[in-house]
Amino acid sequence: MPTSNATLITPKWILTLENEHILTNHSLVIEQDIIRDILPSDDARKQYASAQEITLENQLIMPGLINTHGHAAMNLFKGLADDLPLMTWLEEHIWPAEGQWVSEQFVADGTKLAIAEMLLSGTTCFSDMYFFPEAAAEKAADHGIRATFYSPILDFPTPYGTDADDYIEKSIQAHDRFKHHPLIDIGFGPHAPYTVSDEPLIKVRSLADQLGMPIQIHLHETAFEVQDALDKTQQRPSERLQKLGFFGPDVQAVHVTQANDTDMTIFKEHGVHVIHCPESNLKLASGFCPVQALKDKGINVALGTDGAASNNDLDMLGELHTAALLAKGVSNDASALPALEAIKMATINGAKALGKEDLIGSLKPGKQADIISIDFNHISLTPVYDPVSHLVYSANGSRVDHVWIAGKLQVKNKQLCHFNIQQLQETAEHWANKIQAS
Ligand SMILES: [Zn+2]
Repeated sequence: MPTSNATLITPKWILTLENEHILTNHSLVIEQDIIRDILPSDDARKQYASAQEITLENQLIMPGLINTHGHAAMNLFKGLADDLPLMTWLEEHIWPAEGQWVSEQFVADGTKLAIAEMLLSGTTCFSDMYFFPEAAAEKAADHGIRATFYSPILDFPTPYGTDADDYIEKSIQAHDRFKHHPLIDIGFGPHAPYTVSDEPLIKVRSLADQLGMPIQIHLHETAFEVQDALDKTQQRPSERLQKLGFFGPDVQAVHVTQANDTDMTIFKEHGVHVIHCPESNLKLASGFCPVQALKDKGINVALGTDGAASNNDLDMLGELHTAALLAKGVSNDASALPALEAIKMATINGAKALGKEDLIGSLKPGKQADIISIDFNHISLTPVYDPVSHLVYSANGSRVDHVWIAGKLQVKNKQLCHFNIQQLQETAEHWANKIQAS
């Protein structure tokens, strides 16, 4: 049916991820917040004669990238402490800095900075685990980016909460506040098995069932974490969580650099999703997630950057480049995690992990119009035999040209549409000056 408020996007290539094929001579129709149609361009111009057409010469459109694990506000700690092992980095640098600086304003400013970086590099949906999630969620809502905030839960006090019950109560309040927002979801974020005891984990499971809130937890991040649990409790963290009845298809286990057959069987049996954060694991020398082995077992693996303090960027095209190379090195098999599979980790697999696969993750009529375009007009992407190969092995976030979320244009010609960049930079520098002077 011809409509006047439709937008027709005509790129060189369309990667829908609904099948293996790349469409050429096709257009995608956006109407309000959804994808109305994908059809041959000649037909599109007839059927949608009154639509505005955006022609993207030598560009590819694809589903927006989904960053399934991060700590957005930590963008303000980017480059503060590098080249340190996980526990030294956490205990001697990050946790003290957080204790001193983290506040609602810090989270609002840091999250806004991260959102700008994510949008510019093609992320249209992210998941976040950090203090003051309501302040972060407000920024995401203001800037029209889709996100799930996993409200943090710990046994010990921080500037955000006093004890596990207090954190859980705050998670529920945040959920109540945003439960009708079209772009924002709130979940439970028990930090890790070594920072949350049995009782709150059981409580989280039960509340998640009642309220339909998803759960994200750092799990098996290092060999030390698993060995320490074995020494103290004679069981692996995955076994402990299983016995508590914690696992389910709404649980995302982040990192999983340690996964033996027992762990993988547990994940598979309960439909647990694994979130792979290769660059953070490499930088902190945490170990290697056995991506191919998990996939062979039928476990959904999605991709995240982790916080910018341990990465140190939020570029998902860069992350999937690293993921593809690392999977081959770790499995000693050059055919492991081929390019298209890597792209799925950063799109449809992320949507599945976040429980949003009916909404996003592929380009399909009826799904939300979360779409990005990649500009191939660059010497680094020339010549083109296979655009999918370039997306994984040659491109990076700086090639992202247009970004739409729920049909709304957020990035146009590599520029943010709704940000004051100078103000954003000044605010970040102001924080850095204060933190450095302390
Ligand atoms: Zn993390």
